Amino acid sequence: MTGAVLAVDIGGTKLAVRALADGVTVHERTLPWRDGADPDADLDLLGASVSEAAGALGTAPVRIGVAAAPNVDGDGRVVGWPNRPGWTGRSLRVPFARTGAEVLFGDDATLAALAEAHATGCRDLVYLGLGTGVGGGLVCGGRLLTGAWGTAGEVGHLVVDPAGPPCRCGRRGCLQAGVSGPALAAHAAARRGRTTTTAELVAGVADAEDWAEHTLDHAAGLIARALAVLTELVQPARVHIGGGLGSALTALPERVAPRLAATVRAGRPVPEVRPAVHGAHASLAGAALLAARGAALLGEESVA
Ligand SMILES: [Zn+2]
Repeated sequence: MTGAVLAVDIGGTKLAVRALADGVTVHERTLPWRDGADPDADLDLLGASVSEAAGALGTAPVRIGVAAAPNVDGDGRVVGWPNRPGWTGRSLRVPFARTGAEVLFGDDATLAALAEAHATGCRDLVYLGLGTGVGGGLVCGGRLLTGAWGTAGEVGHLVVDPAGPPCRCGRRGCLQAGVSGPALAAHAAARRGRTTTTAELVAGVADAEDWAEHTLDHAAGLIARALAVLTELVQPARVHIGGGLGSALTALPERVAPRLAATVRAGRPVPEVRPAVHGAHASLAGAALLAARGAALLGEESVA
């Protein structure tokens, strides 16, 4: 479908909105969520951003694709979101109601996986998004792997170290508990001996600081462990690493690749590990794809 559509990415720390007319971006804006986690203020910001983007189109959007970090049910209600617990129970349809458009929701990492598969024509791709949390999406045989309840591909909750740190899901040693932004900042801080932000970690890697290199290798080792399991299960041709932090750590894919190769059984092909084609905007690109193709995108064989 062509025409006027909006793509919205509701992320852990930011909101991104893109307006497209016949596939061409006519407006795009990224805004951080305000401090304080006030859900009313957040949803007002969302509504205002959507109105602004719709205004830029000059015509009413036909459809809105929403890539959501929060867990959203079929009615557009937030089931849960550890990042901003106040959102739980809120309807995400309300901020979009004024547009009159059809609104479709999808998991942010799942949509990112589809966008990456489309961009590369790859029918078997694993997407890993590193940011506030760790998201994942699996495209197998050109089709999104959805599972019985529609939420398959939660790579962030593969247990990579049963004795590892506690995860927000209540278990120990999930990939997310090891390589989310807060987890890597904590790892870097412990190595460095002082409080460290993810931005400092990215700068530290660029400057080849010992503590930052060590944290990057630590992350690469845990990610390779998760990917070794996925390689046995679904044989991806490619693994793309994106998300805000995953994209900023540009050296991460090349650190993961040899570790993954070392774990794959002899004679077996090794997936290519690459940075996400859409960089930090893979989820937004997926939302645009959902807006263009409609709900069928999530069920159909979508990569030729
Ligand atoms: Zn977990």
